[in-house]
Amino acid sequence: MAGKSFFIDTTKCTACRGCQIACKQWNQNPGTKTTQRGTYQNPADLSASTFKLVRYSEEIDKGGEPKWYFFPDQCRHCLYPPCKMVADQKVQGAVILDSKTRAVIFNPAVKVSPEDFKEIRAICPFDIPRYNEKLGSMAKCTMCFDRVSEGMLPACVKACPTGAMNFGDRDVIRKMAENRLDEVKNEHRKASLIYPEAIRVIFLVKDDPEKYHQFAARQNETGGKRMMAQKQPLHPVTSRLKIS
Ligand code: SF4
Ligand code: SF4
Ligand code: SF4
Repeated sequence: MAGKSFFIDTTKCTACRGCQIACKQWNQNPGTKTTQRGTYQNPADLSASTFKLVRYSEEIDKGGEPKWYFFPDQCRHCLYPPCKMVADQKVQGAVILDSKTRAVIFNPAVKVSPEDFKEIRAICPFDIPRYNEKLGSMAKCTMCFDRVSEGMLPACVKACPTGAMNFGDRDVIRKMAENRLDEVKNEHRKASLIYPEAIRVIFLVKDDPEKYHQFAARQNETGGKRMMAQKQPLHPVTSRLKIS
């Protein structure tokens, strides 16, 4: 059950978007047409061709200065993924677990109806699943399991110039996250790790998670409850998945 994990230290994130671009490149996802919406964040949301999105949020502090919150969003690769629990009842093989990394993978070769997709998206505590209407399949971050299986880092981690993105064996990453939290707490008393026990993409935030993004730590919805309540691990399939 060990597998891999990410540690995303938002206190080190400069919103350079290197991770977002690297993700597009590795996955050969096309660019997204964007418009000026009065924010530096672009595109507006995750999509079937944007698996990684650096979210920007801004507030004005007491001194009248803008305060930024950067959140490099992606699938959390839940230990007990609610998306798989629902998908397994609808269409077998649409969501699979990689045995080596424990990545949660949406298989693009398996068709999912728009109705079933809606239920699968609704159960995700972090609003991650997206639908490729052209292919009739689901899409999201793959944990770069193809790169990781060959001993490489995920493309987003490799591209990050500041040390905000980290990846490795789960026990090592959890320790790294706990140690960094201890450091950051000295300066930011609200600092916390988001669900380190339940998900494989562990975010460190220095303020209330909802200031970063409404789904940064969605706690009280059905998906969150279900993720926490799940007791039995799901069975992985091969780490040499062929998805096309
Ligand atoms: Fe599934 Fe959502 Fe968890 Fe990703 S974050 S594994 S899409 S439930
Ligand atoms: Fe994209 Fe790979 Fe990073 Fe996932 S792990 S966000 S697929 S680059
Ligand atoms: Fe932040 Fe690193 Fe991504 Fe740049 S590459 S936006 S510093 S996480």
